[in-house]
Amino acid sequence: MNTQTERIIDRLNVLGSISDEESCISRFFMTNAHVIAGKMISDWMISAKMEVRKDALGNIRGILRSKHSKAKHFVIGSHYDTVFNAGKYDGPLGIIMGIEIVQRIIDEDIELPFHLNIIAFADEEGARFNTAYLGSSAIAGNFDSKWLQRKDDKGATLHDVIIKNGSLVDSITKSMIPKKDWLGYFEIHIEQGPVLCNADLPVAVVNSIAAQARVNIKWEGTNGHAGTSPMHLRNDAFCGVAEFALAAEEIAVLHKEQLVATIGKCNVSPNTSNVIPGHVSHSLDIRSPNDQLLTEVMATLKEKALAIAKKRQLQCQWKIMQSNASVTCDHKLKTMLTSSIVKANINPVIEIPSGAGHDGVMISKIAPIAMLFVRCKDGISHNPKEYTNPKDIHEALNTCHLFMNTMIQSNLITNTST
Ligand SMILES: [Zn+2]
Repeated sequence: MNTQTERIIDRLNVLGSISDEESCISRFFMTNAHVIAGKMISDWMISAKMEVRKDALGNIRGILRSKHSKAKHFVIGSHYDTVFNAGKYDGPLGIIMGIEIVQRIIDEDIELPFHLNIIAFADEEGARFNTAYLGSSAIAGNFDSKWLQRKDDKGATLHDVIIKNGSLVDSITKSMIPKKDWLGYFEIHIEQGPVLCNADLPVAVVNSIAAQARVNIKWEGTNGHAGTSPMHLRNDAFCGVAEFALAAEEIAVLHKEQLVATIGKCNVSPNTSNVIPGHVSHSLDIRSPNDQLLTEVMATLKEKALAIAKKRQLQCQWKIMQSNASVTCDHKLKTMLTSSIVKANINPVIEIPSGAGHDGVMISKIAPIAMLFVRCKDGISHNPKEYTNPKDIHEALNTCHLFMNTMIQSNLITNTST
């Protein structure tokens, strides 16, 4: 391990120790731990001699400026929020490695033909407000003001949480980087799947990111006494959900590797052992590399939910919270990344699709994107067991340095920045 890799490991441990929970890693959007982590990242960027700004959503943007007057922006980004009971690599690895990419450029006094940005996005997981890619949406100019009315589990709105943190809601749109100023976007992320482990490789080029939809479904029946209500006279909302969950699983299984469906969050009311549940709301997360298939399955599942509700005399409300089409990574950037992996003596170079969503999805609406996946042990992620070997981090960083050299020397830059 060299100094840079050691520093990456140290910083991953530092961020991994910043949590709202004592027993596990949890940093939801704009909680205490989240704000402290953002400040830590900002300090690291400052120590790498970057110009640093924090926007109204808490995105931390470090800029190393080019001397060229017409230079565009190349952005390396990832997120610093986490899911509940998270690992320490998902998100922070890409930010911390990005800072080391900048550090080498400073240390070797390399002249940049573009402004090099590292952006630590404040909310990618969307765990608090069901707002995946919230941070990157502002940078891409895609922020939807309707999201401000979304509530967390305690009833606080996104609007109020932003104000409480001392930010101005009106200035959210000011953090956008206009389309004409973008050169490209690069994200380094752990794979969160088993392909690299099975192939015994440290890194892979991402070729696409799956389409994804998030739905919130509410079921209403009637609360009742668990002892006195005969089975045939009940309107048990939870039984409707249970039937729907198995139907969703059955349809997803039918489509094998083309589609996945998950109900990961479920609130049962009144959530008491001796009361028939009258109200249940739950999430539904569906992903597929095939946009059309995702749309068709969504329609089928909605019909299924309504049919189950009718049969069981329940009310069912289906609300799409978020929907993103699949994304194809940029061919030129991908080619440069591939040649960098070859130069790093990593053999063979493989391309894999990402089933997980990433900030690159939002940025792809405004700029060409590329992604590098780094192996994580047994493909485990969103789990405290998440682990990436320091040797793999070292090889990934070496690949990124070579990629940056290629970017700096590339015709792509000279053609677009003059
Ligand atoms: Zn992530």
